[in-house]
Amino acid sequence: DVTKTRGNDFEDYMLKRELLMGIFEKGFETPSPVQEEVIPVAISGMDVLARAKNGTGKTAAFCIPVLQRVDPSAEHIQAVVMLPTRELSLQTSAVLKELGRHMEVNVMVSTGGTPLRDDLARLCKAVHILVGTPGRVADLVRRGAAKCSKATMLVFDEADKLLSGDFDGDIEEIIRAMPADRQMMLLSATFPVAVKDFRDAYMRSPAEVNLMEELTLKGITQYYAFVEEHQKVMCLHTLFAKLEVRQSIIFCNSVSRVELLAKRITEMGFSCFYIHSRMEQSDRNRVFHEFRKGSTRHLVCTDLFTRGIDIDTVNVVINFDFPTGSETYLHRIGRSGRFGHLGLAVNMITNKDKKELFAIEQELATEIKAIPREIDRSVY
Ligand code: ADP
Ligand code: MG
Repeated sequence: DVTKTRGNDFEDYMLKRELLMGIFEKGFETPSPVQEEVIPVAISGMDVLARAKNGTGKTAAFCIPVLQRVDPSAEHIQAVVMLPTRELSLQTSAVLKELGRHMEVNVMVSTGGTPLRDDLARLCKAVHILVGTPGRVADLVRRGAAKCSKATMLVFDEADKLLSGDFDGDIEEIIRAMPADRQMMLLSATFPVAVKDFRDAYMRSPAEVNLMEELTLKGITQYYAFVEEHQKVMCLHTLFAKLEVRQSIIFCNSVSRVELLAKRITEMGFSCFYIHSRMEQSDRNRVFHEFRKGSTRHLVCTDLFTRGIDIDTVNVVINFDFPTGSETYLHRIGRSGRFGHLGLAVNMITNKDKKELFAIEQELATEIKAIPREIDRSVY
């Protein structure tokens, strides 16, 4: 929610007056949560690594500090802003231009798919902020046209995409062309290993801003049941008979298994819906909405349906198929801590899953116990 804040004002950041005017004229009244976290530390010159959902205002969160720290009277490139696509580059440069409209600041966009000679010509004039995709910017750096030796700020927006591998060589070249003590800002909605590796390799004790809901296993009692593949449906039947399920989510590892299992559950006489990735978005939304409303007790799904299990009435999650990787496990079973509901997770484990069960237990530093005959009703 872009409007839910701690109550700070843009005035509190002691921004240049021209910049503040640009912000208000753009129609921004108060900073969004990610802006509240990022702007003050970024203005101080610290490295920042920020993670927040899409649509939360990450663009202005770095554009405002960049504009604040740029010195319009110094005629050289001071900030390089990297984006993974041409469209995002154009969009971002437009935001910089709007916010900086009362400042004497030159913003240049440079992406593939446009004549190189145009870029070369534009670089003959003073450019303060260079925005673009890694390939073209690296090209300009290599040709000596974009001089970055005095560029003190480097921004990676959509860092997860920029660091997914395709741009590695170009990015390294751009970093090498900049001073060693440059400030780096990374923004992303997700935080894969590549971003963590990059942080460890290039950033100087960055301030880490994380506005994603943390998933936790607190309050979730986790069990496993050893079964053979052909015993899974029977096992599920037993669970339904023994457990007091308010609502349950049951995970399978493939679309076809979701459909099959939903059919079996219905045949057993239980009400059940399913969701998977081959369904139209509108159908998924409708099913999810109905499940939320309580129109059915059980929902069978693939990993598509991961975050968002924070439905008060879901007290049982069953891994009919055990997932691969602790991240997926956490997404299926975990809940955002602030709700603090209790819950039960049951994992059906076949011989081939044993190793993964042990690995996930270790990685998440959690305990998954053998399912007892009787389950204490107070734990879920
Ligand atoms: P993200 O990069 O996090 O996906 P954007 O930076 O694209 O999000 O911002 C999403 C929308 O919110 C944009 O339309 C932007 O103009 C608007 N926005 C950003 N910050 C504010 C603010 N402080 N007040 C009002 N609207 C804002
Ligand atoms: Mg963005």
